[in-house]
Amino acid sequence: MNLLNLERELVDKVMDEVLYVSKALFEEGLVKSTFGVVSKLIPDTDYVVITPSGFKKERISKDNLIVVDLDGKVVSGNLRPSSETPMHVFIHKNIREARCVVHTHSPMATVFAILKRDIPCIASEQAFTFGGKIPIVKKYSYPGTTNIEELESIVEALRISRAALLPRHGVIVYGETAEEALDNAIVVEDIATSAIFALLLGEPTEFTEEEIRYLQEFKKKRYGQRKT
Ligand SMILES: [Zn+2]
Repeated sequence: MNLLNLERELVDKVMDEVLYVSKALFEEGLVKSTFGVVSKLIPDTDYVVITPSGFKKERISKDNLIVVDLDGKVVSGNLRPSSETPMHVFIHKNIREARCVVHTHSPMATVFAILKRDIPCIASEQAFTFGGKIPIVKKYSYPGTTNIEELESIVEALRISRAALLPRHGVIVYGETAEEALDNAIVVEDIATSAIFALLLGEPTEFTEEEIRYLQEFKKKRYGQRKT
C-alpha cells in the first residue's frame, strides 16, 4: 500500500497520539534530554509513525515525526528516525498486539536494567498490570542494535510481559493503544521504585502463580467501568 493512498486524517490521528505520548513521557519525568522513543502502527497498514533521532520530546511537533515501513525504511518525513527504529519495527512486526511501542530510560526501572535483573513480582500493582516479573532481555549488546538474535531476544521477553528491561540501557514497553503503552511505561517506573525500597528495607515475597491468576481475574471481572 502506498502511503499517498492513505487518508491524511488517519495519519494525522496517529501522529497526534505519538505526540501526546511523547509529551506525557516528558512531563512524567520518564524521558529526559533527547532520549526515549515512541512509535505507533497506522491501523490496517504496514507503516509506523516514529519519533526522530536526538530530539527533545517536549519540543516535538507533527513536522518532526517520521513514517517508516516495517523494515525501517523512511517513507515520509524530513528528519532521521530514531536510532532504535530497527527494534521498534521488529516488535511491531512480530507482536500483533504491539500497536504502540515506547522506549524510555526511566531511572528506577533502569537500575534493574543496569544490574541485569528482572523486577520481581512483589507488588499487587505489578501482578495486576503485567501478570508477573518484568524480565531482563537475555541477549543484548548496545543501544540501536540491529542484531537479529538480540531483536528476537527482546520479543521473547515481551511475550512474557508487556514491559521488559534492556540490559545496561533502559525499558521497552508496548500497548494495544497509545494510552496503554504510556500507562505501562508509567507503571513500570512506579513498581521499580517500590521494589528498590522494598529490597533495601527487607525481604519482600513474590506473588505465586495462583495469586497472580486471582489478580488477573479480578482485573478482568471487577476492575474499571463496566461496558454497557
Ligand atoms: Zn535508549
